[in-house]
Amino acid sequence: MTQLPVVDAPHEEPARKVRPPADASTMAHRELLGGDFWRKIPAFEDIDEATFLDHRWQMKNTITKPEKLLEAVQSLASDAFLADAAEGFKGAPMAVRVSPYMLSLVDWTNPYDDPIRVQFLPTASTRLPDHPKLTFDSLGEQGDAPVPGLTHRYPDKALFLALDTCPVYCRFCTRSYAVGPDQDMVDKVSLKASPKRWEVIFDYIASRPELEDIVISGGDAWNLRAAQIEALGNRLLDIPHVRRMRFASKGPAVMPQKLLSDDEWFSALVGVVKRGRSMHKDVMLHTHFNHPNEITEITAKALGRLFEEGVHVRNQSVLQRNVNDSIEAMTMLARRCAWVGVHPYYVYQHDMVKGVEELRTTVHTAEVIEKHVRGSTAGFNTPTFVVDAPGGGGKRSVHSYEHYDHTTGISVYTAPSVKEGQHFLYFDPIDQLPEEGRQRWADEGEHQAMIDEALAAAGA
Ligand SMILES: *Cc1c(COP(=O)(O)O)cnc(C)c1O
Ligand code: SF4
Repeated sequence: MTQLPVVDAPHEEPARKVRPPADASTMAHRELLGGDFWRKIPAFEDIDEATFLDHRWQMKNTITKPEKLLEAVQSLASDAFLADAAEGFKGAPMAVRVSPYMLSLVDWTNPYDDPIRVQFLPTASTRLPDHPKLTFDSLGEQGDAPVPGLTHRYPDKALFLALDTCPVYCRFCTRSYAVGPDQDMVDKVSLKASPKRWEVIFDYIASRPELEDIVISGGDAWNLRAAQIEALGNRLLDIPHVRRMRFASKGPAVMPQKLLSDDEWFSALVGVVKRGRSMHKDVMLHTHFNHPNEITEITAKALGRLFEEGVHVRNQSVLQRNVNDSIEAMTMLARRCAWVGVHPYYVYQHDMVKGVEELRTTVHTAEVIEKHVRGSTAGFNTPTFVVDAPGGGGKRSVHSYEHYDHTTGISVYTAPSVKEGQHFLYFDPIDQLPEEGRQRWADEGEHQAMIDEALAAAGA
C-alpha cells in the first residue's frame, strides 16, 4: 500500500452563498383578512359572526338586482361611481348575483381599482367595443356536444354541464351563452338540472369506454342539492371506466360559509369522495379564486374542513385586466392558495366573451406573468397558463403558439391531439395593440389579410 502524500496546502472553503433573509413582504400571502370586516357595509353593520358564517343567511341576502346592489353601497361609494355602475348594468350579458361575503370584500372607497368589484360589477365608462372576431360560444362547446350539456372534445375526458346557475355571476363567464337567466340582449341555451337530461348524458358516458375523466360543471355544483351531488356522483362512480371526477365550483371563493354550515351538502360531497376512494377512483373539487383578497380567515377555516376529510382542491383562475394581471397579484395568489391547501392548476387567458373586452389582456401579458410566477414557489403549486383556443382547440399552453404577431395581436395555435391539422386563433384586445395594429383593425378590409398573414407565418 502506498501512502497518500499529505498535502499541506491551505484548505479552501467553497464559496457559500447564503440567501439573504427574506423580507417580511414576501410572506404577506399568510396574512389573511379576519375579524368582522363585513360590518363596514351599512346593511351588515349589525350582523354578528354566527349569522355571517351561516350559508342560509348568505344565500338569502345574496343580491340579484342591480338597484339593490347599488343601494347596499350607496353611502360608501361616490355618486359618480354609482351612476357609472347603473349605466354599466344596461346591456351587460350576465345577470347580477353577489353574495354578502363578496360585497364585503370590496373596498368601496376605491371601487374603480378594486379587483373584486371589477369581476362582478360593470361600469359604463370603462366599456370597450367587442373584438370583431368574437362569437357567442367562443369555445365552441356546443359544437363538440354529442348530447345537450356534455362536451366531448378530448380523447379521455368530458365536460358535463349539470346545471345553469351559480352562487354568483361573473361578468367574464365563458358560459354566458347558457349560465344565468336570459338578459335583454341574450337568449340562452337551457341547461337545467333535470334528471331526464342527465340520464341521456349518463348513457352517453357509459357508451364511451374511452371516457375516464368527467368534469362536473355548469353552472356550479354549489347550487346542486345534497341529494343531487350524491345521485350524480354515485351514478358516475358506478360507470366502470370512469376513474376521475371533478366537481367544479366557485363556491369556496364566493361563499365559503357553505362548507362550514351546510352539513348535508358537505357530507354528500365527502361521501362521494370517500366512496370513490374505496373504489380507487379520484374525486376532487376544482375551484376558482382569482385574487388573493378573495381568500380570508373564513376561507382558510372552510378549506381546512375539506382538508381534514381528505378532499383535494385545485384552483383555476381567469387572467383579467385590472384584477390579477400583475406579477405581484398572481404570485401572491399562487402562494396564498397553497397556504390554505389549494393547488393552483390553471390560469386561463381570458376567453373571447361578449361585453367584457376591458377585462382581456394580451397573450404577451400572460407570458410575462407566467415567467415570474414559475420559480416563486413549489412546482406543484405553479399554475399552467393556458389559452382555451377559440373554435374548440382546447387548452393550449400560452407560449406554445405556432406564431404570434404582437402588432395585430393574432396568435395561432395547433392542437394535434384534439383536432389534428387545424389552426386556432386568439386575438388580443385591440386597445392594447401598438398604433399600427389598431389602425389595421379599424379598417375592415384588413381583417382577413391580417389573419391570412398570421396563418401563413404559422405554416398553415
Ligand atoms: C377544460 C376542459 C376539460 C378538462 O381539461 P383538463 O385540462 O384536464 O383540466 C375537459 N373538457 C372540456 C371541454 C374542457 O373545456
Ligand atoms: S361561477 Fe363560473 S360558471 Fe358561474 S358565472 Fe362565474 S365563471 Fe361562470
